[in-house]
Amino acid sequence: MPKRLLAALSAALLTLSLAACDRDGLNISATQAAGEDFQKNTHQSTTSELRYAYETEDGIYIQLKGAYVYYIDKSTKSVTILCGKPECEHNDDTCNARLAARSLCFYNGKLYYFNGDKLIENGQAVDYGDRIYSANPDGTDHKAVQKLEFTPSGDTNAFADKEPIIHRGVTYFPYCGVLYALPLGGDIEDAEKIWGDEIEADGSHMGNLNRLTYKLWGDGNHVYFMVNLEQSDGTYKDTLFDYDTISKETTQVWEVPGADEVGQWETTGVSVSQWYVLGGYIYFYLSGGDFWRSDLGNGKTEKLADTHEKTEYGSAVFSDDYLCLMNDGPEETGSSAAIGNPSDYIGGDTIYVYGLDGSFIKELSLKSLYDQFDTLESCKLAFCSGSDIYFVADASVQTWSGGVGTMIRNRFLCCVDIDTGEIAQIYNW
Ligand SMILES: [Zn+2]
Repeated sequence: MPKRLLAALSAALLTLSLAACDRDGLNISATQAAGEDFQKNTHQSTTSELRYAYETEDGIYIQLKGAYVYYIDKSTKSVTILCGKPECEHNDDTCNARLAARSLCFYNGKLYYFNGDKLIENGQAVDYGDRIYSANPDGTDHKAVQKLEFTPSGDTNAFADKEPIIHRGVTYFPYCGVLYALPLGGDIEDAEKIWGDEIEADGSHMGNLNRLTYKLWGDGNHVYFMVNLEQSDGTYKDTLFDYDTISKETTQVWEVPGADEVGQWETTGVSVSQWYVLGGYIYFYLSGGDFWRSDLGNGKTEKLADTHEKTEYGSAVFSDDYLCLMNDGPEETGSSAAIGNPSDYIGGDTIYVYGLDGSFIKELSLKSLYDQFDTLESCKLAFCSGSDIYFVADASVQTWSGGVGTMIRNRFLCCVDIDTGEIAQIYNW
């Protein structure tokens, strides 16, 4: 391991978390915000309404309305916006809670998020590109700590799915098709290349979405990344690589199985509907198929549950304990999403809960929500935390007048308890 990585890790492990709470902050202590490893369960969302969340011991930080971060107390389910500024209306850039983040996590008592923005300096707009920012767990003291683009807003990077992760004190981030590692807060010029070939900019600002999509993951001493590898016939396949953070070796460990091995499913031969890597296995759900796992050591794939007996189509979120499966289905309209990204799903009134060994645990009905809201069109899974499954219910209505459509937004963050089946409506926007 290079000295600088080792130094960053040691510093990260030795530094004590200090509670930060000034007069404009909220009363959330740093001990509630511990974190070191990549958090798997909160990276499972199936809805764009709620893509970024991070769980701490007592609470959950969650970005809603595309920009504002809230804190949910896990036991009481009370929700507080992450801004303690007196008289703030929480509706513009001056609000402490406004992160407009792409990715959210905790490390060493600080909230970290990733964003790209232009700052006005001496009357000029200065583009720094995408950077990682830190903030205190109470929403105060935002500052940029690490660059993520060698060339700010560089041409070929513009359309890539480049959500970085922080795992054990190291930031992993893709840039122009290449995956890099850099100790958190380090100088981008010191970033180490892990995998991939740089894609040349052609000035068109258009890249191949499939070629540029990385999905990153951390588990113990391993950092995994799923990429869409082009096959000899010009098609793309979800392919998983394992970067061993100790030996620094990168190995291809899995690719999406063929229909001859696991049967037909919604995106046969291309990508799985949802996946989760834990302890040397990849667990995956195939909408239109079943629930499987592959041993990343020997490549052996086995079916864990015949989920199609409960619902043919669906979307899923995993945790270290559960597969939570919603019986929603693909919308009839097409989707322009890149391979590996879920298409638009609608409906969903039942969640089927399985153990990671494939055992069927419980069926949870959401029908009472549909009874309560006439206009409820879909429920979408966000993540599972302990025995709570968080989801977004969308009861928005489109009205038409004189040929002009107006969308009246009405969405709810809800939570259903696996043990009791009780549904809590947590926040409405
Ligand atoms: Zn505010």
